[in-house]
Amino acid sequence: MAEARFWKKGKGTSVQCFLCPHHCTIQEGTSGRCRVRINTDGILIPTTYARVASLAMDPIEKKPLYHFYPGSRIFSVGSVGCNLGCYFCQNWRISQVSPLECSLQEVTPEEALRRTRAENAVGIAFTYNEPLIWWEYVYDTARVAHREGFKVVFVTNGFIESEPLREILPLTDAMNVDLKAMDDEFYQKYCQGRLQPVLDTITAIYEANVHLEITNLLLAGLNDSPTAVAQLVDWIYALDPDIPLHLSRAFPAHRCDLPPTPPPVMGRAWRQAREKLSYVYQGNISSDEASSTFCVACGGRVIERSGYTVSTVGLRGNICTSCGKVLKMVVM
Ligand code: SF4
Ligand code: SF4
Ligand SMILES: [Zn+2]
Repeated sequence: MAEARFWKKGKGTSVQCFLCPHHCTIQEGTSGRCRVRINTDGILIPTTYARVASLAMDPIEKKPLYHFYPGSRIFSVGSVGCNLGCYFCQNWRISQVSPLECSLQEVTPEEALRRTRAENAVGIAFTYNEPLIWWEYVYDTARVAHREGFKVVFVTNGFIESEPLREILPLTDAMNVDLKAMDDEFYQKYCQGRLQPVLDTITAIYEANVHLEITNLLLAGLNDSPTAVAQLVDWIYALDPDIPLHLSRAFPAHRCDLPPTPPPVMGRAWRQAREKLSYVYQGNISSDEASSTFCVACGGRVIERSGYTVSTVGLRGNICTSCGKVLKMVVM
C-alpha cells in the first residue's frame, strides 16, 4: 500500500501526521486518533485506501445538500474511522471503529467511477464516516471523477489542516460541513476536537467558491439554547446569509442517551435562524414546510420536498418564476 501524505519522521521509528489539527505522534505498529493511519515500519500508511464500509446511491438531499442539483442522485461511499469522537455520533458503528473491526470491500477509484456512471448519478459523495482522513483515496477518486465530468461532494466535520484542504478544494464541487456549536468547550468536551479549525475550514471553502451548506445537530440541553442558536446564526450570517443551514434532529446514539430533540425545540431554533438566514431547514424530522425552499425575495415556495420527493415548483434554472430573483442554487 502506498504511503500517506502529510507526515514526517519523528524520534526513533515514530512518525507525526499533519493531515488534521491533532498532529498525532504515532509509534510503530499503532494508529493515530482516527484509527486508520498506521505507522508501519516507520512509514505512515493510509490503511483504508479503497476500502469501503458503506456505499449507496442516495438522493443528494440525504447528504444533506438542498441547493446543489436538487432532485439528483449521488453515488455515496464511506469507510471507517474519524478524527473526532463525538459522544452523540449518529454513525458511530463505522466512525468509532478500526479497519479490523468492520468488514470492508475494495472499491478502487476507477470502480467508484464505473458505478457512478452506470447509475447515471450526478457525481460521487464521500460521506458516512469522516472522509477527509481518507485523503489519499478521496483525492485520487476526485481526480478521476473530475476528469470524467462528475461532481465531487464531501460531507465532513471540517477538522483538517489548511494544506491538505487547499489541495482538495480545486477537485471539490460541494461540501456540507458539520458545525456542532459555536463553542470551543463543547468541541473539546463532547467531540474531542476544537472549534477554530472548523471555522477556518468553512471560511476557506467559502473563499474558494465551492458550494457550501452547513449542518448543525441540535442536542436538547446542550447546544439548543436561543443564545447558542444566535451565536451559530450570527457567525454564518457574517460570512454569507445565503449559506443554507440544516438544523438536524438528534436521536440517542453512541454514548448519548438524551431523548430525541423535541419537535418544539427544532421549530423554535428554525424560526429563530430564519430571522437572519435566507435558507434554513429541519432535518431528521417530518415537516414539508421546514424542508421546502422559499424564495428569499418574495417568499414563494420554489422547491417542495416531502421526504426525499423533490418538486421544483417555482424555479426556472436558479431564478424564482414569481419575482425573478436569482437564488443561491446550483442547477443543471
Ligand atoms: S488524520 Fe488521523 S493520524 Fe493524522 S493527525 Fe488526524 S487523527 Fe492523527
Ligand atoms: S465528526 Fe461526525 S462521524 Fe466523527 S465522531 Fe463526530 S459525529 Fe461521528
Ligand atoms: Zn421570488
